[in-house]
Amino acid sequence: MAAPQPDLNTAQRAAASVRVRGLEKTFDGDHVLRGLDLDLAPGEFTALLGRSGSGKSTLLRVLAGLDGEHAGEVATGGGVAVAFQEPRLLPWKKVWANVVLGAAVPAPREAALAALAEVGLADRADAWPLTLSGGQAQRASLARALIREPRLLLLDEPFGALDALTRATMHHLVLDLWERHRPTVLIVTHDVDEALRLADRALVLTDGRISHDIVVDLERPRRRDDPRAAPLRAEL
Ligand code: ADP
Ligand code: MG
Repeated sequence: MAAPQPDLNTAQRAAASVRVRGLEKTFDGDHVLRGLDLDLAPGEFTALLGRSGSGKSTLLRVLAGLDGEHAGEVATGGGVAVAFQEPRLLPWKKVWANVVLGAAVPAPREAALAALAEVGLADRADAWPLTLSGGQAQRASLARALIREPRLLLLDEPFGALDALTRATMHHLVLDLWERHRPTVLIVTHDVDEALRLADRALVLTDGRISHDIVVDLERPRRRDDPRAAPLRAEL
């Protein structure tokens, strides 16, 4: 008898753990990360807060291996995908062709269609990026990250440019994707409420290090008046 085939849409991949020790990052003598330590457990959904310019994007780039020179120890085990605030779609390639660009190894159109179906955008596979709404473009950007089947998904203010209603829809989408695949997720946001709604844990980056590390263990949906959010709000 044939073994049952795994359902690729629900198969959970092994999530990555992240271990960072003493991470130092300098730009032209300007010390941005100053001996930063960070541990993320496999499958954990963590939000990273911090003032503008505090080094959040720098940290994500280092974790993604997009940033060359740094000092300290960084281990993610690979399998990383990133989505940014700007979807960064190539306007001269159709949506599906943008999505396959995210693949770690050459991927066929079918793989892009599957990734687009995961984010509810399969019907726009043959559209040009400039015809997409902001929310649709961000879905395409997520599909381009998902096609890598990431064990670690890094999201850098992915919803910052979206209107409130679209953002709420994207929150549901991201939680749904996380529950289906259980990658380790690190999401940068300016929004404490967004952090509490999405994440199990919230970190604040201040002066080049993690200054606050707060476990958010309330049932979803998060309450706005969660007293554990007070130190986060005070810091931002
Ligand atoms: P955040 O994402 O928290 O707003 P960033 O990581 O983008 O902060 O930037 C942290 C600091 O590093 C800022 O002062 C920024 O100007 C500087 N910086 C970031 N990237 C570069 C770069 N490629 N070259 C020079 N300085 C940079
Ligand atoms: Mg940033």
